[in-house]
Amino acid sequence: LEQVGEAVLQTALEKWQKENPRTYNSYKKASEKEAEQEYYPFLTSISYDLACRFHLHKEQYPGIRIQASSRRVYEDSTCAPHLMGRLGLMNKEEYEEKRFQGYIATDRLGKTGIERYYENQLKGKRGLKLIEFDKNTLKNNIIFEDQDPVKNEVQLTLDFPLQKFTETVLDSYPGKDGKGPRLLACVLLRAEDGQVLAMATTPRYDLERFGKDYPQLKDDPRHPLLNRCIQNFIVPNPGSVFKLVTAMALLEEGIATPDHTADCQGYLFNPRSFRCHIWEYRRGHGTVDLPHALEQSCNIYFYRYGELLGIEKLAYWSKKCGFGQKTGIEGDGEQAGLVPTPEWLQGNTFIPPEERSWTTGLTRLCAIGQKIEVTPLQVARFFCALGNGGYLVQPHLVHDPEKNYRESEPLCSSNTMKELLKGMELVTYGERGTGNRYGLQAFGFIGKTGTADTSKGEEPHAWLAGFAPKERPEVTLVLMAEKAGHGGEVCGPLAQKILDFYFKKLKNRIPEEF
Ligand SMILES: [Zn+2]
Repeated sequence: LEQVGEAVLQTALEKWQKENPRTYNSYKKASEKEAEQEYYPFLTSISYDLACRFHLHKEQYPGIRIQASSRRVYEDSTCAPHLMGRLGLMNKEEYEEKRFQGYIATDRLGKTGIERYYENQLKGKRGLKLIEFDKNTLKNNIIFEDQDPVKNEVQLTLDFPLQKFTETVLDSYPGKDGKGPRLLACVLLRAEDGQVLAMATTPRYDLERFGKDYPQLKDDPRHPLLNRCIQNFIVPNPGSVFKLVTAMALLEEGIATPDHTADCQGYLFNPRSFRCHIWEYRRGHGTVDLPHALEQSCNIYFYRYGELLGIEKLAYWSKKCGFGQKTGIEGDGEQAGLVPTPEWLQGNTFIPPEERSWTTGLTRLCAIGQKIEVTPLQVARFFCALGNGGYLVQPHLVHDPEKNYRESEPLCSSNTMKELLKGMELVTYGERGTGNRYGLQAFGFIGKTGTADTSKGEEPHAWLAGFAPKERPEVTLVLMAEKAGHGGEVCGPLAQKILDFYFKKLKNRIPEEF
């Protein structure tokens, strides 16, 4: 009773004391004795049978009592477990803190994810019923009743069928040569304001079995406890997806105009370093302007102009576009990623002192997204801005219609935006677009592929980011497959399936509309 809440309890007790001082006094005596003892749960989820047997012989077990508690029931305990989060019993410290806030020792507390973030709303309110039992007449008399528990719910922006379908698509990705690894993340946001429609990551875990599976989960080298949309063991680099940030900076800073060109012979100075990806075929892209450099993802263009832009300006624009900082989405464990600068390198004690001086080469690599570290959610947020006229959004899982989720100023001028969109359209619609072979035009999808180099001998990270339909962007999609291969080849077919589900199943629209 002591944990029910001061005010309610006080009212009830006063009423009781007034109406029946005799029984009240005996209760008082008993409860004082009880309050001297602390109870902590040591066995949970015991069977009904065991509980009954205990009750019949409880005098044999002094100091032990049975306490009923609530249990979370899942519609699907494998769906978005990282977002939902886990409930768990309180440890001693948590209990000491919570016991005067309406909690009892057997209550479960949100430990991660939404469960933790919205604990105050989700915990609900304990009701109270005081019953007087007359041992002579064997009748119960209800002295006080407070059974008006507030209906506590938190409604997520997630589209359950879309979330489920996206997870299935990620799970079914066979990996290169059917061998894996299958470490994937996919974020779908509403382009207009950053509402999270789906946020899928694979591998996952089962909320219902978490306690039992934990020993294997924590030692699994694939790190299934990570929500790869916002966190990672090593935060991946975005590769060419990032060229849109560089392109925005180049145009806004006046370093390049849309028709400035670069000549790509397949490498910058010699074939040994600073190559373009096309050098794989021992040739170059020839002369490319900005939209076509985006279409074919030419590294040479971005090496050259990125060098002219300089790291300070590139870092400024990266941060403006939301990189190197958390998005602030509800939940926990979100990582900020990294936008390196000369100051950061200088102060990085993990790197040998002789390697701490910034070089032009590093600026070039940043310009093509190689030394940057990003989360798929950060990329999705940036692409929402590209789709909604330039406004950076606040990704969120619970939508408040009163709140404004868009920044008031656009990231760049509408002229700049026009050129970026031209480049993105060429990626899927252009003759030489890196994403033109996967049927994404059926949904009016435009965007950018990325193939981000990893350690030598390992496959690159595959990325795809963009939105659809291009005329009235409503959904932003970002896919990332770790060490999986080429961006378009790996992510294109997966994106096709997800967008097909989104438009045909959810929106019931025919592709011909685009
Ligand atoms: Zn090139």
